[in-house]
Amino acid sequence: MRNIVVVGASVAGLRAVETLRREGFEGDITLVSGEPHAPYDRPPLSKQILTSEIGPAELQYREIDWFAQQEVTLRLGEHAEQLDVRAKRLRIGGQWLRYDGLIVATGARARKLHTGRALKGIHTLRTIDDALAIRESILPGTRVVIIGAGFVGSEVASSAASSGAQVTLLEVAETAMSRAVGAQLGHVFARLHEEFGVNLVCKARVTGFGGNDRVQFVRLADGWELPADLVVVGIGVEPNTEWLSDSGLTLDDGLLCDDTLNAGPETVYAAGDVVAWPNAWWGGVMRGEQWLVAADQGMHAAQNLLLGRARARPFSTIPYFWTDQYGCRIQVAGRTDLGEAVSLIGDPSQRPFLCAYRHGNEITGVFAIDAPRAFATLRSRMQQHRGFATATEGVSALADAD
Ligand SMILES: Cc1cc2nc3c(=O)[nH]c(=O)nc-3n(C[C@H](O)[C@H](O)[C@H](O)COP(=O)(O)OP(=O)(O)OC[C@H]3O[C@@H](n4cnc5c(N)ncnc54)[C@H](O)[C@@H]3O)c2cc1C
Repeated sequence: MRNIVVVGASVAGLRAVETLRREGFEGDITLVSGEPHAPYDRPPLSKQILTSEIGPAELQYREIDWFAQQEVTLRLGEHAEQLDVRAKRLRIGGQWLRYDGLIVATGARARKLHTGRALKGIHTLRTIDDALAIRESILPGTRVVIIGAGFVGSEVASSAASSGAQVTLLEVAETAMSRAVGAQLGHVFARLHEEFGVNLVCKARVTGFGGNDRVQFVRLADGWELPADLVVVGIGVEPNTEWLSDSGLTLDDGLLCDDTLNAGPETVYAAGDVVAWPNAWWGGVMRGEQWLVAADQGMHAAQNLLLGRARARPFSTIPYFWTDQYGCRIQVAGRTDLGEAVSLIGDPSQRPFLCAYRHGNEITGVFAIDAPRAFATLRSRMQQHRGFATATEGVSALADAD
């Protein structure tokens, strides 16, 4: 292999490039990015970027010189438009670019709410440009309506509230964050929003927006019209796979790969939010939307591409994500959709709080607020399949580890 192309220059794509060089690959590397910015960190977009003056340069993973030093050709602001796996080439800006090895890391984009009217003041949040536009509009007293109380929506609510905005958070489900942590613990988030003055409205279905040129209100299914100066839509993501539509690769809520992150042809691997793959730990096909999973997959896909199909290793992981809301560090690992939640530190109305999701004696998931050390201990017990039979046993296992 003399020429590897990585498409998508966020955490998965960048980790892939770093790994290729670290593993001694000396051939040509091209990193293609649809965005005009050098690779940057996305999680701060709903956190520090909205609450402070920091700008794009502070989020950059690498100085631009690093790419030149590593002899990586960085193609910023260019989209891969089509993939021809038989001829091993992809089309960018109307020109074909050949590759010997390809890593697809095109991630995901924010899902839009299709209500027919495009009004100013309605935003989604996925890129640095989105975040800067939102920040500009959040002022003390601004009426901010956020649609979707998943982790991006909840973090924006927290950031906007800390800037003095009047925040309403609309959620179609019974409670906040329920997709990520289940309904049982979703109430923890509901309480947090309430404590910090955010008006969380659940079972709220948005049907449209009103205003002339700029949004003035959000309309709900029950006819309620909620005044708004700024709307942020946080209703999940869609994987960026359109450019692969006639490639012959399998697309099914992402680019379907095998357990080694191989997409079918020997020379095509994939990593990050775009990938659906059979995760042995999970027990089925999943698509991650977590920073750490994307970073690990970037490294793994690069290693497997260099190893070749016969020696490629499976990628199995316990999904992990963190979220920062109202000054609290919240961490979640594993499966929160299985078993019952057992409190081991505090109770859901307190901080710190730690609970294990338990199925039989097995720990399937861990959830913590402001308890990072205990979280790490419990996560490693989960990894080692060292569960516990009773909550008391779990509490004393934590105390022993301490
Ligand atoms: C606001 C926000 C906050 C977050 N906070 C957290 C958090 O606290 N904790 C956590 O675990 N995770 C968090 N995440 C999720 C995390 O950022 C993602 O899981 C991670 O960014 C996925 O990385 P990726 O490399 O797979 O893809 P992405 O970050 O989605 O990047 C893909 C890149 O590929 C480019 N691209 C797409 N199509 C093409 C094409 N055809 N040609 C060229 N380039 C293309 C895109 O423009 C983009 O730059 C957050 C995400 C957001 C948006």
